[in-house]
Amino acid sequence: MAKKQFKAESKRLLDLMIHSIYTHKEIFLRELISNASDAIDKLYLILTQKNTGVSREDFEIWIKVDKENRQLIISDNGIGMTKEELESNLGVIAKSGSLSFKKEHEQNEDIDIIGQFGVGFYSAFMVSSKVTVTSRAYGEDQAYQWESSGTDGYTITESDKSDCGTEIVLTIKQDTEDEKYDEFLQEYRIRNLVKRYSDYIRYPIKMNSEQQKLKEGTENEYETVIEEQILNSMVPLWRKNKGEIKDEDYQNFYQEKFYDFIKPLKVIHTNVEGVVSYNSLLFIPSKTPFNYYTKEYEKGLQLYSSGVLIMDKCPDLLPDYFSFVKGLVDSQDLSLNISREMLQHDRQLKAIATRLEKKIKSELVELLNKERDKYEEFFKNFGLQLKYGLYDKFGANKDTLKDLILFYSSTEKKPVALSEYVSRMKLDQKYIYYAAGASVERIDKLPQTELLKDKGYEILYFTDDVDEFAIQILHEFDGKEFKSVSGDDLGIEESKDNDEAIKEAGDNKELFDFMKETLDGKVSEVRLSQRLKSHPVCLTSGGGISIEMEKVLNAMPTDEKIKAEKVLEINASHPVLDTLKKAFVSDKEQVKKYTELLYNQALLIEGLPIEDPVAFSNAVCELIAR
Ligand code: ADP
Repeated sequence: MAKKQFKAESKRLLDLMIHSIYTHKEIFLRELISNASDAIDKLYLILTQKNTGVSREDFEIWIKVDKENRQLIISDNGIGMTKEELESNLGVIAKSGSLSFKKEHEQNEDIDIIGQFGVGFYSAFMVSSKVTVTSRAYGEDQAYQWESSGTDGYTITESDKSDCGTEIVLTIKQDTEDEKYDEFLQEYRIRNLVKRYSDYIRYPIKMNSEQQKLKEGTENEYETVIEEQILNSMVPLWRKNKGEIKDEDYQNFYQEKFYDFIKPLKVIHTNVEGVVSYNSLLFIPSKTPFNYYTKEYEKGLQLYSSGVLIMDKCPDLLPDYFSFVKGLVDSQDLSLNISREMLQHDRQLKAIATRLEKKIKSELVELLNKERDKYEEFFKNFGLQLKYGLYDKFGANKDTLKDLILFYSSTEKKPVALSEYVSRMKLDQKYIYYAAGASVERIDKLPQTELLKDKGYEILYFTDDVDEFAIQILHEFDGKEFKSVSGDDLGIEESKDNDEAIKEAGDNKELFDFMKETLDGKVSEVRLSQRLKSHPVCLTSGGGISIEMEKVLNAMPTDEKIKAEKVLEINASHPVLDTLKKAFVSDKEQVKKYTELLYNQALLIEGLPIEDPVAFSNAVCELIAR
C-alpha cells in the first residue's frame, strides 16, 4: 500500500525527534499519557452532557510492556480518532511552538529546543523505531490503524477494535553504544516515569505487575502472580480542599517531593480563581539547605499545567530574595506546549509570579506578628538572603523587604523589626541608631555605644557583612534616617557632664594637630569625643564608608584598598587627656609614644589589626616598667 507523506513541517519536526540528542527522551511517556487523558476528558464531557450516568471511574489508561517484541503499549478508552482525524492529527502538526522556535535558531544546531515543554505525539519517535496507533472514534463502528517508521511517511488501514479509544504501540529502538532504550521496557522505570511526570493525571494509569507470592497452602513455595497496579495517585494534594488535608499530609508530601528530612516551617496553600487561575502549594524549609548560599543552589518552583508537570524548577516564579521557597504551581491557563523561552514572556506566568510574591510576603509578615519564635527561626536561616535582596538592584525591592528585616536590639536583647524600633523611639530622637561589629558581644563592648546606652537609646546591632550596605540603600524607615554610633553627629543633646568636661579641657588644637601629624595620615582628625563616657579613646568615621564597611570591602579580592576616613576621639573627662597635655609641654617624644598607643588601642577595640603588634607590646611594657 502506498505510503502517505508527512506535511513538510511535520516532517522536519519528526526528523528532529528521531535524531534528537536530547537527554530527556523519557518525556515521550508524559506526552502520550497526557494525550490519553485529554481524549478521556473529551469523551467524559460528551457523555455527561448526554446524561448517560457515566463517571470518571469508568475510564482508564493502560500501560503494557512486551519485552520479547520490544513493545511498549499505551491505551485509553477515550474519544478515539476517526480515519480523518488520524490523518489530520498525526500527519500534521497542529500547534507546535517548538518548530517556529527551531526556525529562529536554525544556525544553532544543538540548542535545546525540546527542553522541558510539550512536544506532543511525535516525541514517541525519540524512543521508537515504529509507532502504530489503532483507534476507534466514539460513535463509529470501524477502527483504523496509523503506522509509521519515521520520516518516509505513514499508512492508514482499516483495523479491528472492540471499543472506542486509542491504542499506541511503540516498538522501542535497540540500544546503541551511546543511547540506551532498553530501560523503557523495564517496569520499574515506567513506574518511576509515571510517578514523576503524570502522578496527578485524573484517571488511573494501570499496569500489570509480576509479583512473587507465597503459594497458598505452602510455606516456602512461591509463584508468579500478575497483579493489576495503579501507578498514579490521581488527585493532586494541592487541588484538594484545604479542610480535607491534614498537617501530616502536607509534611509527608513536602519531605517526599523536596527531599527534606525535617518538616517545613510553614505551608502556604492557595487556590486562586480569577483572571489567572492557579493552585499553589509553597513551603518554607525549617533549615537552610546545605548549598543554599552557594552558586549550586537553584531556585524555582515546579510548574504544572492542569496536573501535568511541565517544568521542574521554574525560576521565573520566584524573586531571588524568596529563593528559599520550595513548592509548585498548577494552572490550567498555561499551555502544555510552552517552551522555556516562551515562558519567560508569558503574561499569565508573570501575573502568577507577582501574586505569589505578595502572598509570600504577607504570610511572612503574619508569621512575624503572630508566631514570633517561628519567624526568628526563619530569619536565622534566610534573613541574610532578605538583606541581600534589600541591597540588590539598588534597592528596587526595599519596599517589599524592609518590614521583614530583623536586627538585634541593645535594649530588647533579641532581634527586632524596624517598625518595632521606630514605635519605641523617644520623642526627641532623630535617628535610628546602629552599631556594626563582628558579634553581638563585641558590639556590646564598643566604647562608641556608651553615651547612647547611658541615655537610654536603643541601638541595633549589625553583625552581618551586608547589613550596613543594605541599610545605606534603605536610607530611612518611616521617615527616620539611620545613624551609626560611630558617625559624625549623633543628633542628641550631649550630657551636662560631658559638656562641662569639654569646656574644662579648653583649647587643645596644638596638641591634637601634633598627634594627627604623629599618626602620619592614618587619621583625618584628632578631637574630643561627644560619645565616650568611661573609655579613653575610640575611632569613628567621617565620610560614607564606615570602618566596618572598610573591613568588608577589603576582604574582597581587589587590588585597590579602600580606606574609611578615621577620626581618633579622646574622652575629655578621662585622666589620659591630662597626661597628654602635660607631656605636650614637657616631653614631645612621650606624646608621640602615647599617641601611637592610644591609636593602636582604638584599632584593637574596633577589631582592626594593628600594624606592629611587637612595637605595641614593647611600648606597653615600657610603661609598666617605668
Ligand atoms: P497536542 O496534544 O499538543 O494537540 P499531539 O501531537 O500530542 O499534540 O497530538 C495531536 C492531536 O492528536 C491531539 O490534539 C488529539 O486531537 C489527537 N490525539 C493524540 N493522541 C490521542 C489519543 N490518545 N486519543 C485521541 N486523540 C489523540
